[in-house]
Amino acid sequence: MTNKHYDICVIGAGPAGLMAAGIAAQNGASVVLIEKNKQPGKKLLLTGKGRCNITRDEQDLSEFTTAFGKNGKFLYPALKVFSIEDTINFFASLSLETKTERGQRVFPISDKATDVLKVLQAFLRKNRVEVLRESPVVKLTKNGQTVEKVNLVSGTIKADKYIIATGGVSYPETGSRGDGFRWAKHLGHTVVHPYPALMSIITKEDWVKDLQGLSLKNVSISIYQNNRKQDERFGEALFTHEGMSGPIILDMSKNIAQLLKQGTVELKIDLKPALDYPKLDLRLQRDFKTKSNKMMKNCLDDLLPQKLIPVIGNLSGIEPDKKANSVTKEERKTLLHLLKELTVTVIATSGFNKAVITTGGVSLKEIDPRTMKSKLIDNLYFAGEIIDLDGPTGGYNLQLCWSTGYLAAKSAASA
Ligand SMILES: Cc1cc2nc3c(=O)[nH]c(=O)nc-3n(C[C@H](O)[C@H](O)[C@H](O)COP(=O)(O)OP(=O)(O)OC[C@H]3O[C@@H](n4cnc5c(N)ncnc54)[C@H](O)[C@@H]3O)c2cc1C
Repeated sequence: MTNKHYDICVIGAGPAGLMAAGIAAQNGASVVLIEKNKQPGKKLLLTGKGRCNITRDEQDLSEFTTAFGKNGKFLYPALKVFSIEDTINFFASLSLETKTERGQRVFPISDKATDVLKVLQAFLRKNRVEVLRESPVVKLTKNGQTVEKVNLVSGTIKADKYIIATGGVSYPETGSRGDGFRWAKHLGHTVVHPYPALMSIITKEDWVKDLQGLSLKNVSISIYQNNRKQDERFGEALFTHEGMSGPIILDMSKNIAQLLKQGTVELKIDLKPALDYPKLDLRLQRDFKTKSNKMMKNCLDDLLPQKLIPVIGNLSGIEPDKKANSVTKEERKTLLHLLKELTVTVIATSGFNKAVITTGGVSLKEIDPRTMKSKLIDNLYFAGEIIDLDGPTGGYNLQLCWSTGYLAAKSAASA
């Protein structure tokens, strides 16, 4: 593969690189896509628990970009050029129909991430992208203000333009190990220090094990440090064998990780956010009255998922077989407290190994948001997670890849 010359060289065959390579070729460029793994899209196949939450069906672009925090504005031009609607239409044009689920989450109708990868690979074949697999890029060689060539383990690749789409450093088993960050630094770019984000948490309480797999819907979870509330979210969460996960936890995990550096972090789970203390107390009294001859544990099935009842029972210290009509006011108060403020203490977050996304990356100050072109290197572009942008769960991060991959390719192919 020595000294071959292409119009555009894309490094990294994740969602951003696959999109960039296909679009650049569709626009008439000769394109090589270089991937270190045997198979492209290893991380893409894990997305949405193998179902691939392709995007979020959000009509309001500023609403969408705001979810990325203060850096979100950077995404605006890319989304203008390749919007959420364009993404859905693009996949439809590749015969991949999509559906929108709860929380505006868009998935392929087949519920298979493999189908998303399949259509992208077919798109690349149709547009004659040359894909080099099992070809780790070792470094990029610079000549003045341009990238001169890409060095592989054996041989080099030359191109007029280069698009780096090597992702972040999370889930390294998928191939994202921060190589792109090192090259960017070597080329003179600032890399905002990467941290893991969208992580599950490990808790001190081992009763979570008994709840493993239990998904909580419509709950509210607050983060506390030194008895002060730091954050609160409403939605879905999940118990795991060692702690908690699910959308609310993932979205709060960046904050939790920061707070853990300063001390103990507690999460208070409000299992019944629609009912305040007095209302929930009335509800308990009513349930206990109407089922007065039943055991206490059997009076909670309308309020709580089955799996949670023995755990709450244990934590309350109330004899589970106690008759509802003999539960004391004090005991009811304890129960009430557990339903409104079920508390877990966070020991750690899952870290880079299992983080869904990396925060940090190539500084936005050094990338032109209208083209994705480096402001420092004349023939270099960035796309996807390598850029210092990260969104919450729910399709935001893949949309970032589709839009920046598209824009980088369009700009590189037409410059
Ligand atoms: C478990 C999990 C579930 C997720 N679910 C969702 C979801 O449902 N919806 C959503 O929006 N987002 C989801 N995400 C996030 C999403 O997967 C990422 O945002 C996305 O994959 C980033 O794409 P990328 O192309 O920038 O980088 P990556 O997908 O990381 O791809 C980078 C590619 O570059 C290659 N590469 C790296 N270094 C080199 C090198 N030296 N030489 C050659 N190739 C190299 C890698 O092997 C890899 O194939 C999920 C992430 C995880 C981990």
